[in-house]
Amino acid sequence: MNRSYKLQTKLILSFTILAGFIIGLISISVNFGIENEFKNYVIEKHNEKVYTLINNLIYSYEASEGFNLNDIEHLGVESIEQGLIIDIKNNEHVSIWSALEHNAGLCESMISNVSENMFDHYSDWNGNYTEETFPLISDNTTFAEVTIGYLGPYYFNEQELFFLTVINKILIVVGIIALILSIFIGFLIARSITKPMHNIITQLNQIQTDKKTLSVPIQTGSVEIQLLYNSTLSLEKRIMEQEQLRKQLTQDMAHELKTPLSAVQGILEAMIDGIFEITDTRLISCHEEIMRIKSLIIEVESLSIAENNNLSLSYIPTDIASIIDDIHLHQANRLNANNQKINLRVLNSINKELLANYPCDPTKLKQVFINLVDNSIKYAGKDTSINITLDIKSDKSLVVNYSDNGMGIPTKDIPYVFERFYRVDSSRTGHNGLGIGLTLVKSIVEKHQGTIQIESSNPGTTFVITIPYINNHL
Ligand code: ADP
Repeated sequence: MNRSYKLQTKLILSFTILAGFIIGLISISVNFGIENEFKNYVIEKHNEKVYTLINNLIYSYEASEGFNLNDIEHLGVESIEQGLIIDIKNNEHVSIWSALEHNAGLCESMISNVSENMFDHYSDWNGNYTEETFPLISDNTTFAEVTIGYLGPYYFNEQELFFLTVINKILIVVGIIALILSIFIGFLIARSITKPMHNIITQLNQIQTDKKTLSVPIQTGSVEIQLLYNSTLSLEKRIMEQEQLRKQLTQDMAHELKTPLSAVQGILEAMIDGIFEITDTRLISCHEEIMRIKSLIIEVESLSIAENNNLSLSYIPTDIASIIDDIHLHQANRLNANNQKINLRVLNSINKELLANYPCDPTKLKQVFINLVDNSIKYAGKDTSINITLDIKSDKSLVVNYSDNGMGIPTKDIPYVFERFYRVDSSRTGHNGLGIGLTLVKSIVEKHQGTIQIESSNPGTTFVITIPYINNHL
């Protein structure tokens, strides 16, 4: 099973484990390093003691021109205190002075004390009583030999053991303090990350349950979380906008369908009841209303096709200018009623042959121009003109510059007009669409791998459409 833990618990645990690991590693290596160095130092010190003792014995022999028992005893007793048990024999192997004979009790208690101390601190200590014999040489002549017994290979005296114990204790205390500190710091860091996250979660839950908005901005104190929070804010804003658009759409759809249907219903009922005569004009009027409903449904259907990415293109060589002329003809009545004109200009320099056979989907591209002209008729207003310029660039891309000199689109609305269901305040124009036209325009242009740009001021709205030349579809 995949268990989930709180982020705070995870962070504190990670910090503690990491800190514990680092502290443990440092303690072990420091401890091991110090002890090892100390061992070497103790062994070196022992060798020095042996060397000094031998030198002192030779010096006493030479100074006294023979064995000086007082000096030897003095050196022997001093050596016991330093952990060395000496036995001096002359060349005939006759003992001159032996620490064991002098004070066997002191030697034994020294050895057993040291062993006990060492075993107390190091249960694996493998020291043994060891003896080494050295010749005593003066003027290149061996005059005696000294056997030195000691606990080898090394041992620590009480001060040295005390020093090592203190170091160990310091390491343990420092380790515990560092561990507590790292848990505390881990807690602080975890809190600084999780607290703003909790705030975001609380606010998101509020949106879910109470439908509240993220009105209170939070300062999270960390770049990534702030970015996450800001993205959440934008997401929430978009969800709210979409929600608003959806509500508006439902209302408008109902209105758009109800008006023509009521008209048709009224005319038909009046004709059935014999109030109205059945005339061609009335039948044509009903037909027109039904066609309005149909075109509305087709528009919604086209959007659904485009949004579900089911828009497929059939590229054929197309006469671009004739598409625009066609629309001109079809919209002639509405254009005349508005006293609007369409001026089509084809730049002289361009490849006319290509313009008359441009690879694209003519039906879809026609839809683009129908929607743009329809918008100009609806929004640009009476006595305006529509100027369309066709150009073909050196890379054979088609550039259509479409502009009218109507009321334009407010700057604040420009970034949104291609969004589905987005409408600029209808009170400006008195016209109400569904906010689908430009969404479809953009989808069709992008399906052709092209781009659409918009510029608007008052007066005037300009769309620049660029369609790249792609002939592998043909
Ligand atoms: P609709 O289907 O409602 O016409 P569109 O997506 O075609 O929606 O257009 C979105 C909005 O852009 C409209 O509400 C309209 O206010 C604005 N608009 C589009 N074209 C023009 C234009 N030529 N002049 C002024 N406003 C326009």
